[in-house]
Amino acid sequence: MCQFYGVGEELVREYARLVARIGINVQPGQEIIVNCSVEHYEFARLLIEELYRAGAGEVIMRWADSWGTRQYFLHVSDEVLSNVPAWNVEFYHYYSGRGAGFVSIGGSDPESMKGIDPMKMHLHSAAMDKALTEYYKRMVASEIPWTVAAVPQKAWARKIFPELAESEAMNRLWKMILKAVRVLGDGPDGEQALDAVGEWEAHNRFLKEKCRMLNDYAFEKLHYQNSLGTDFTVGLVKNHVWEGGDEVAGTGVVFEANMPTEEIFTMPDRRVAEGTLVSALPLSHRGNLIKNFRLTFHEGKVVDYSAEEGVEALRSILEGDEGSLHLGEVALVPYHSPISQMKTLFYNTLFDENASCHFALGECYPTTIAGGARMSEEELAQAGGNASMNHVDFMVGTADLIITGIRENGEEVVLFRDGDWA
Ligand code: ZN
Ligand code: ZN
Repeated sequence: MCQFYGVGEELVREYARLVARIGINVQPGQEIIVNCSVEHYEFARLLIEELYRAGAGEVIMRWADSWGTRQYFLHVSDEVLSNVPAWNVEFYHYYSGRGAGFVSIGGSDPESMKGIDPMKMHLHSAAMDKALTEYYKRMVASEIPWTVAAVPQKAWARKIFPELAESEAMNRLWKMILKAVRVLGDGPDGEQALDAVGEWEAHNRFLKEKCRMLNDYAFEKLHYQNSLGTDFTVGLVKNHVWEGGDEVAGTGVVFEANMPTEEIFTMPDRRVAEGTLVSALPLSHRGNLIKNFRLTFHEGKVVDYSAEEGVEALRSILEGDEGSLHLGEVALVPYHSPISQMKTLFYNTLFDENASCHFALGECYPTTIAGGARMSEEELAQAGGNASMNHVDFMVGTADLIITGIRENGEEVVLFRDGDWA
């Protein structure tokens, strides 16, 4: 078996163990669905083993291949693109109805979809969204446990470190990921293995404490300002809830939806956003890169936008549906978080969004308003929640970002100064 580019099987196995025990937190006899690309089969094998060791009843692999997916989008007709066979719908409904856990292993080539017509991908994802509405609803409401983690892949590593030889790039990326997920740390004697489970417990306590503080303030609005040109005010829904770290599924099982995770996040009022947000990092979206873009909002809606690169991809997001023009998530991440300190653009939202304060255009998380998981679509919309088939995170946090919370009585509290908790 490969030694994972000099990182060694032991550390990588520890990561697989972490995904099994903290990420999806597999329960005795539980069925676990793993979405994984064939490029990651070596990690997947360790993961399968660790899932069974942790008590999984059955591990069901759904293998994908980014090269094959690219060929699919290049060649099939629109009719095929927008057809989701009933067996696939049944697959997700069957397993989610039985309390299965869903693990996704990401880390694909950020350019695997370069040049593919965004509207084709849009057509496909819209069809998937429609056919799997029930499953996605259970997922965003955290009724079912799910987790997303990422593993290096050659094209991805080359993209991040174009100046390095491939094996060196893979070694670097492995180490960065292992550090981001707190399996590996920098000690006084250099790199050392950490007690990853203990680290995650402490990290979760920190995130929960910040959530408690912000929930007590119950801000009406947040104001953002930095030297890039961001000058922006967003409203938060009444009774919003700040969330971060682990979550509790409908089954009572605690799980970690994203590994790594550094953010705490809540629900913006889709009707209240004024001013301009300037991107702090490029956005890698479906294989396309959108660079140096700005979005201007009025009455909650994007009314103007521009990008130095990838404006078509940005347009395809915004034109997705009405909800794509409004915000669905507000997230705070200190500029000095471990991932941010790596000063690396990962071309992967899982890492880049955890390096920076961000917003998401599109679908909101119903769990970020009190009682939201039980609200009907109408009730959620009434409360200011946003509905969309898109949920696209984009990064705005810089080293000089100031965020001020404004309470209903007008009181102002500086939350972030110089990009970090004030
Ligand atoms: Zn987020
Ligand atoms: Zn998000």
